[in-house]
Amino acid sequence: MAKFEEISIYDYSLDELKEMLKPSFRAKQVYNWLYKKYANSYDDMKNIPNELKEELKEKYPIDIMQIVKKEQSRDGSIKYLFKLRDGHTVEAVLLLMKKKKKDEDGNIVRSEQYTVCISSQVGCKVGCTFCLTAKGGFVRNLTVGEYIAQIVNIKRDNEIPENKSLNIVYMGMGEPLDNFENFTKAVQIFSDEEGLAINRRRQTVSTSGVASKIKKLGEKDLGMQLAISLHAVDDELRSELIPMNKAYNIASIIEAVKAFPVDTRKKVMFEYLVIKGKNDSIEAARKLITLLNGIQAKVNLIYFNPYPGTTYQRPEEKDMIKFKDYLNDRGLICTIRESKGLDISAACGQLKEKEANGNT
Ligand code: SAH
Ligand code: SF4
Repeated sequence: MAKFEEISIYDYSLDELKEMLKPSFRAKQVYNWLYKKYANSYDDMKNIPNELKEELKEKYPIDIMQIVKKEQSRDGSIKYLFKLRDGHTVEAVLLLMKKKKKDEDGNIVRSEQYTVCISSQVGCKVGCTFCLTAKGGFVRNLTVGEYIAQIVNIKRDNEIPENKSLNIVYMGMGEPLDNFENFTKAVQIFSDEEGLAINRRRQTVSTSGVASKIKKLGEKDLGMQLAISLHAVDDELRSELIPMNKAYNIASIIEAVKAFPVDTRKKVMFEYLVIKGKNDSIEAARKLITLLNGIQAKVNLIYFNPYPGTTYQRPEEKDMIKFKDYLNDRGLICTIRESKGLDISAACGQLKEKEANGNT
């Protein structure tokens, strides 16, 4: 559990709250206010006795992060900058995906699908050479409550109905598996039917490849989706891009993935950040197919998003398409990720702790 000054009401599962609050039906009432009505103050909780409200205010704060900046992208994505209680900031992004579905009569209908990309740490220890988040070094892990509050704040701010389904991707700032205990508890609280009810199949963790923790996560069998930031097919280049590859090389990651329980209808996603002249050859595509042989895999190609000061370059569109077609033609499902929110730097790898005054 977090230190006292870091504790908030969002750190607790319903079962824990039932232990803490007597009579225990109060726990369910509080939970309902938090996760179905997005209450941001105990004063709003009409059916809770004043005495209990005062006690809760004192012990378990609700209002633990402030929206200090909000930017809307042309494609509808909204990037949030949250200020935490210790003054540090993290970002989260609400992505709007237009989905085409068939209705009962077979007509195509468009529906909006929400996905929220949330952060795991202030900064990151992994130190990938292509990633902006890495530049500020590592500051600290987010608490369980800070994971939860990112989603609650975004649902509240956008008035997203409590019964509207939502996907979560753990692809914001930091490495989720380096914050293992808090991250896995958050996954479980998110999925509680009495709370936010975000099915674990709709939650995807992205990791830079902490093989020992992928194994541990697999053993917990939470039923969530796995995405591996692979980015290279040989250890030499991968170690240049992701220094942690020296500790957990490609073979160790593949072994951990093979042991991971995957829903038969789902696949493990391999993210492949494409950098011009580094990993965009057909030779690399060929090796990728060999590497992923025997895994229920799909590949997501990501354009490297350049930022001032980097020597890496965005790949050519024609090379991305060639790479994608090579994989698809050989039966390995591959898509090119749309860079959502690029105009507001909300795309992957563009998340970086900013000054709390919000200057970008
Ligand atoms: N730490 C985790 C999750 C956060 S990063 C991980 O690395 O998987 C989310 C994704 O953004 C990763 O696939 C990461 O490799 C990618 N990314 C980082 N920097 C990027 C950049 N400059 N351009 C495009 N994608 C980037
Ligand atoms: Fe950390 Fe992921 Fe960025 Fe690498 S890409 S430094 S693991 S946030």
